[in-house]
Amino acid sequence: MFNALIVEKDEATGETRAGVQQIDEGRLPQGDVTVAVEYSTLNYKDGLTLGPGGGLVKSYPHVPGIDFAGTVEASDDDRYAPGDKVVLTGWRVGEIHWGGYAQKARVRADWLVPLPEGLTTRQAMAVGTAGFTAMLAIMALEAHGLTPERGPVLVTGASGGVGSVAVATLAQLGYEVAAVTGRPEGADYLRDLGAARIVPREELAETVKRPLEKESWAGCVDAVGGAMLARVLGQLSYGGSAAAVGLAGGADLPASVVPFLLRGINLLGIDSVMRPYADRVEAWSRVARDLPMDKLEAMVRPATLSDLPGLGADILKGQVRGRVLVDVN
Ligand code: NDP
Repeated sequence: MFNALIVEKDEATGETRAGVQQIDEGRLPQGDVTVAVEYSTLNYKDGLTLGPGGGLVKSYPHVPGIDFAGTVEASDDDRYAPGDKVVLTGWRVGEIHWGGYAQKARVRADWLVPLPEGLTTRQAMAVGTAGFTAMLAIMALEAHGLTPERGPVLVTGASGGVGSVAVATLAQLGYEVAAVTGRPEGADYLRDLGAARIVPREELAETVKRPLEKESWAGCVDAVGGAMLARVLGQLSYGGSAAAVGLAGGADLPASVVPFLLRGINLLGIDSVMRPYADRVEAWSRVARDLPMDKLEAMVRPATLSDLPGLGADILKGQVRGRVLVDVN
């Protein structure tokens, strides 16, 4: 028997209810590797699956948690043996497959990566899907020519999980980072992570009126989408790129093509869920190398399985700062 956070749905009312239960190992789904989970985290998507599901969960009862790190307990796959430390993000684990909000998980070996050298399971989940995706975004910007000499880089949704890791990593890499936030009271937090400048959310909240504004940013890691991303596109410098990571502010993109045509800018789509293995290994090794661990620790808010229903509601309201780290034991 082990503890799991189970979401159940009342089919008559459609309402969901999440709570910690003791369950039997026989209830774990099929898979070739069983992992003793040590840490999981809270990401924006977990906020959805902890509640009514946002269309992501197909069957109940369900165990959410889109990522986890732990130790292999049993394996039918040659790549993993009992005792190996592993990390999982993506592959719709925690959505259509049972996820990391439990003391055990059973998954396909293809979905795992070995714990990156230099990171503990706790640090890997302090980074989690949000931080891993921030690194994928930075790698995409670099692949499109971003260097510190090209000018300042904007990070939107800066106090969130993706944003916090992006700010700290870019600053460590020598970039001048401008952080967009709707929480001015958190400016010191963002400066401590390495932001050189704080941009109030209202400055970028209006919809595009002029397709070209002053060239201000060599690149952008965008967790917000919507009208804000549209505005940022008009503010990128010639040849600059924005990496579209999230939709915390909306899924529409009320933008103009003019910056693409006159400034040769790029909009780079970032997906972490179906990302091939080689990219995953590279991104995790970059995290271990380029994210300062003291800054990571400053982002962490510890939590337990029973804290998650409340925290899930908070993250959907944009009220969680940094990274929630869940010790499932
Ligand atoms: P968080 O909730 O931790 O961060 C989002 C941040 O966006 C908030 O902290 C807030 O920052 C800002 N924000 C919230 N609401 C609004 C709003 N209405 N307008 C403008 N800004 C807003 O979430 P995560 O960092 O975990 O995820 C961010 C986004 O990235 C989500 O949409 C998530 O689904 C997506 N994502 C995508 C992945 C992929 O594979 N593409 C992987 C991981 C995440 P502040 O208070 O500083 O303004």
